[in-house]
Amino acid sequence: MTELNLASGASYFRSPAVAIAAAISALHQGKTYYGPAAGSPELRQAIADRYQHDGIKVKPEQVVVTPGTKQALFNLFSVLLREGDEVVIPTPAWFGFYELLKYTKGKLVTIETTPQHNYSLDAQQVRKALTSKSRILLLTNPANPTGRIYTKPEVEAMLALLQDYPDLYLISDEIYDLDTYGKPFTSALACQGPPERTIVVNGFSKNFAMSGWRIGYMVGPETIVAKCTDFQSSTFSGVSMFIQDAALATLQQQQNALYPMLPVLTRHRQLMKAGLEAIPHVRFMEPDGAYYFFPDLSYYIGSKTPAGKTIATTADLVHYLQQDYQLIVANGDLFGGKGHVRMSFAVEEQELVLALGRLQKALQQLIVA
Ligand code: PMP
Repeated sequence: MTELNLASGASYFRSPAVAIAAAISALHQGKTYYGPAAGSPELRQAIADRYQHDGIKVKPEQVVVTPGTKQALFNLFSVLLREGDEVVIPTPAWFGFYELLKYTKGKLVTIETTPQHNYSLDAQQVRKALTSKSRILLLTNPANPTGRIYTKPEVEAMLALLQDYPDLYLISDEIYDLDTYGKPFTSALACQGPPERTIVVNGFSKNFAMSGWRIGYMVGPETIVAKCTDFQSSTFSGVSMFIQDAALATLQQQQNALYPMLPVLTRHRQLMKAGLEAIPHVRFMEPDGAYYFFPDLSYYIGSKTPAGKTIATTADLVHYLQQDYQLIVANGDLFGGKGHVRMSFAVEEQELVLALGRLQKALQQLIVA
């Protein structure tokens, strides 16, 4: 049996041909030296232009190009967080946030959202979690792992909370903003709220299948941009100029770059939905964005395998799928979704179909008391 891996956050797509051509051309042109710490002027302009609609005005001076979205977040955590400051994150959320926070002065505070309430963010519930120490409210939109898109009014309700907390910033991680399936998406930059405390991070890893290029960015108020640029200049200098040229070419030809991905992801999403629906006792929310399903398999926790082993935890279930079916899925506990698993549909179609068949068989074999 070949191993099937649905746990990765990287899609199987090839990076855009325009990106590869632009990087090679930049290397031949000799773009192999230090560049400006905040990023090339052309790329900063192109990123600012992405957000120029619906009357929003984003200036290139509000943009910092970073080695990945992760680093955009790390820059922000480094410059914003003081000893004991709290970072409030609705869960389920990407476990990378927790890992990054280990290396900062910040303290993680989570707010549980549930599938029963469609992972809605209740402003009252968020308010209850806020204190005078709250420094960052971190949203992921579209969310990983749930695929939930928070609507404009929902984001605006979060931004409204900032009025009562003058030290609090909203960071919206929008790394999956182009991987959407019909429901409209609005960037936090286009929402009503205090612009001096609204920051967006984004990148090329997901939207353009460029995870290995290590390029992302932040867009925010110029004061924070200046601090992040100084931090970046003092630490790793900036992103390689030939990589920035690749990112610029990708944005300039976005339609071509995206075209091969979206119809495939749309089809795979349908396939995974149908596959999961065919398995009894599996509950899930259809994702509006990103490329994962986050099914609840808790019905099967407490069951026994045909070999007589007890599946006591999500980790046991994940282990069983891997050992007996060579099927790798991500343990939902890591994201704050007990009894859930995260399954990517950004994989080869053949793999996807096989994986769903194996999941169905594996769960059917379990003996539920
Ligand atoms: N934010 C979220 C929500 C993610 O899922 C990921 C990658 N899994 C990142 C940030 C990191 O992205 P990058 O590769 O741009 O550092």
